[in-house]
Amino acid sequence: MNATGQYEFPVLRDEHGRICNAMSIDVEDYFHVAAFDGCIDPGSWERLEHRVRENTARVLALLRESGARATFFVLGWVAERYPELVRDIVAGGHEIACHGYMHRKATEQSREEFREDVHRAKGVLEDIAGREVIGYRAPTYSIGQDNPWAYEILESLGFRYSSSIYPVRHDLYGVPDAPRYPHYVQDGGLIEIPISTLRVRGRNLPCGGGGYFRLLPYFYTRLACRHINHRERKPYNFYFHPWEIDPEQPRIGGAPLKSRFRHYTNLSRMERKLRRLFASCPWRSMGEVYGICTNQGGVPDGGST
Ligand SMILES: [Zn+2]
Repeated sequence: MNATGQYEFPVLRDEHGRICNAMSIDVEDYFHVAAFDGCIDPGSWERLEHRVRENTARVLALLRESGARATFFVLGWVAERYPELVRDIVAGGHEIACHGYMHRKATEQSREEFREDVHRAKGVLEDIAGREVIGYRAPTYSIGQDNPWAYEILESLGFRYSSSIYPVRHDLYGVPDAPRYPHYVQDGGLIEIPISTLRVRGRNLPCGGGGYFRLLPYFYTRLACRHINHRERKPYNFYFHPWEIDPEQPRIGGAPLKSRFRHYTNLSRMERKLRRLFASCPWRSMGEVYGICTNQGGVPDGGST
């Protein structure tokens, strides 16, 4: 750790000398998203049509095509119902990480509720995967200045890193003045790996995935990735969800217009866009890219990277 708390790591490169970037996927179903919080009672989740298993299988196939590897932040609720999904992720040479159990924002839980939710999810994932889970992502990037205690709890539960901050201004999440690059959040303990942003005129612009990737033209993401790799000489951190490649998913009634716009726009183009993105540069899991001991074990070597 240097004087500013920045996490210093050796930059991972592929055999052509290109920087390896960090791909991550938040494994949850279309009805778990925070934008629909007021419209769907968690008690009804069981009765809804579940599509996460098939959508995650399609994501795994896309990654396999391009030889990319990724970190999958899996919701405990999903893992418990679809353990084979977790085993398929492990068999593909990817990293299993934790997205909590019930997809509740850290900001809306007490410390004890947060600890219980994360502990439960970690246990479910480790039992199925048969390996230690060291990475965590808070639902809706809900760790920030108001709840630094969440990091203490994560560390006490055995996590080595968190990727729970998107340093942008957004109505649902974001800490716009948070560090843009991996840094220690405790004294040399837990590492926070923020989603990538572009620094333009003193502001951080989102460029690391989520709805922005679907809403904005593909070349914006490619430019951002190149800028971060070539100018800033850092890995680029990207994320998306399996439901984003599923234009056939059932529509949620009663959701506000803004939520529906964000959730449903350009779903049909997402798979093609992701295929281009996966082929555009080498992708690895967060644990691999940042040299943190991972739970991947013997990973198959990537194909076209
Ligand atoms: Zn989520």
